[in-house]
Amino acid sequence: MRPFAYARADDVDTAIATVLARPDGEFLAGGTTEIDLVRQDVLRPGLLVDINDLPLDRVDDLPDGGVRIGGLARMSDVAEAPGVAERFPVISEALLQGASPQLRTMASMAGNLCQRVRCGYFRDAVSPCNKRDPGSGCAAITGFHRGHAVLGTSDKCIATHPSDAAVALVALDAVVRTRGPHGERAVPIDEFFLLPGDTPEREHPLEHGELITAIDVPGAATARRSSYLKVRDRASYEFALVSVAAAMDVRYRTVADIRLALGGVATKPWRARTAERSLLGGPATREAFAEAARRELAPATPLPQNEFKVELAQRAIVRALTALADGDEEGGTR
Ligand SMILES: Cc1cc2nc3c(=O)[nH]c(=O)nc-3n(C[C@H](O)[C@H](O)[C@H](O)COP(=O)(O)OP(=O)(O)OC[C@H]3O[C@@H](n4cnc5c(N)ncnc54)[C@H](O)[C@@H]3O)c2cc1C
Ligand code: SF4
Repeated sequence: MRPFAYARADDVDTAIATVLARPDGEFLAGGTTEIDLVRQDVLRPGLLVDINDLPLDRVDDLPDGGVRIGGLARMSDVAEAPGVAERFPVISEALLQGASPQLRTMASMAGNLCQRVRCGYFRDAVSPCNKRDPGSGCAAITGFHRGHAVLGTSDKCIATHPSDAAVALVALDAVVRTRGPHGERAVPIDEFFLLPGDTPEREHPLEHGELITAIDVPGAATARRSSYLKVRDRASYEFALVSVAAAMDVRYRTVADIRLALGGVATKPWRARTAERSLLGGPATREAFAEAARRELAPATPLPQNEFKVELAQRAIVRALTALADGDEEGGTR
């Protein structure tokens, strides 16, 4: 492991200024992604600024019925926070199906959004990888790509975004709040995750020294009837092959509101807007769910080893929505 400098900040402005003082400065939260990648020589920060003392670990209710999740709130604390578990079960379920209890106790919500891809070629530090070493090529396209993306890909990168929580947050239209060298801003989460296009090394719009202070989830009655379905090779401690974050309000057998996002199949947490449009105002039936899923996956560009994800994603969407619809009572209360 290469040597790096270490600093610890206890207020937000000092943390930002300390990172900005060096072009190779980075924030360190739980370290569950960052330290792994430094050890593997994939990341080479010259300075890590430990932000664990910053007062950003609260989970607070917002006046609109939403919730503000501090950037340093731990995954396990957020999953169990009453305001989250009761009003936004999809977030709790996504968090509890991620990583392991030990990791969730260390890992922060901002770190979860900023975690790096699990593509083996990115992480081996030597293979051609446009994300790690821009312009070097993509070893996955012609190599092993069973777990890679079928939506939002480019000829430069096909890695899936690994976060579970981000999929739930995208479905619920969360907003990422930041503070950085140019002040504060609020970025809708769907715009926070960038498609690889020609610049896969750029995964989000954060500037150097820009700190995620909180994630706001707006209040939405539909979110109370929401769930996260994760399909993976083993039942725990594994990333998604396909996942579905769904919130749905069914009234008199009609879809009155629907929020749908997919994980494990796309280069960013994938808001399934085509499927939402197909379902909204129509019958809440298995056939309608299957047709919406088919439309969402129609633009998929699978490669030989990950072709199975197209059908798996469609089946997972149908399963998730059927379970939500079956749990609904006539009139839309549950
Ligand atoms: C074995 C293993 C299995 C896992 N399984 C899953 C899984 O199934 N599902 C899942 O979703 N995740 C999974 N993870 C990923 C895990 O959730 C992330 O590693 C974790 O959430 C990162 O949070 P952290 O606080 O440790 O971030 P760190 O490692 O400290 O930081 C990660 C990145 O975020 C940046 N960062 C941190 N905080 C901020 C901030 N406030 N503002 C700006 N940038 C910031 C850092 O500079 C760094 O670039 C797994 C990880 C491991 C090691
Ligand atoms: S898929 Fe992306 S991360 Fe993986 S090797 Fe290709 S460029 Fe690198």
